[in-house]
Amino acid sequence: MSQLPSQFSQSALQDYVDCARRFELKYIQKMRWPAAESEPIELQEAHMRRGALFHQMIHLHHLGVPPEQIATTEMDDDLRLWWQAYLESDVLRNLPQNRYPEYTLSVPLAGRRLIAKYDLLAYDQSRGVIVDWKTSLRRTKQAVLEQRLQTVVYRYVAVAAGVISADQLTMIYWFATHPEDIAILPYSQAQYEQDGHYLIALLQEIEKREVFDLTVHVKRCFYCVFRSLCERGVSAGDFEGIDEIDIDDDAFDLDFDQVAEVVF
Ligand code: SF4
Repeated sequence: MSQLPSQFSQSALQDYVDCARRFELKYIQKMRWPAAESEPIELQEAHMRRGALFHQMIHLHHLGVPPEQIATTEMDDDLRLWWQAYLESDVLRNLPQNRYPEYTLSVPLAGRRLIAKYDLLAYDQSRGVIVDWKTSLRRTKQAVLEQRLQTVVYRYVAVAAGVISADQLTMIYWFATHPEDIAILPYSQAQYEQDGHYLIALLQEIEKREVFDLTVHVKRCFYCVFRSLCERGVSAGDFEGIDEIDIDDDAFDLDFDQVAEVVF
């Protein structure tokens, strides 16, 4: 009998909430299934490589490497546009002074560890800002972002680790494909306490679970690698159709930045 993981990331918890069976396959059985999330696979892979490179460039920038040196790396037209938009963004100008790119924090919770790997954590004595750079094709709706486990875990861990108080913390999602439409999510002590109760209950539910059911929301299977194993279809979802997908449960969000984090 396989064991539950000793630490939980936001990706693992999001998989569990989206589909308990997917969580079981990925994190308990540790199964790697030879299928693509979307097709054409060349477009998906190119997009994921571009996203990974974009994150590396921002990392270098926050380590102090001048932008003109970073921009000499291999860039295609899309990446050049993202990079230019990033350099011109007001988000950069208004961040607290102490900036920690690609920063990982973890805290104990319900007998396990909860881990958050931040694109950027910036803070000083008066405020803290979490920034997540998104390269998804579409700009995720604010209401969906509020509920995403990434938002819940990132903000909760930053406060629980003692970086900053909840009332001084803000999370920002910056979308490379929609740089004018920044999502700003302030935090609060009341929300922190609510998130703590929710996360503990979620971990306890996973701990007690014996059967990991397939999701009833079959549209979540379109872009899942396990669809043939689950007999939920063989063909992958259309990569360029992600923008147009009809969302009936309002919780679907194919996040290639998170997929890339697992793959690379
Ligand atoms: S194909 Fe569907 S049911 Fe199977 S693991 Fe993926 S999301 Fe869950």
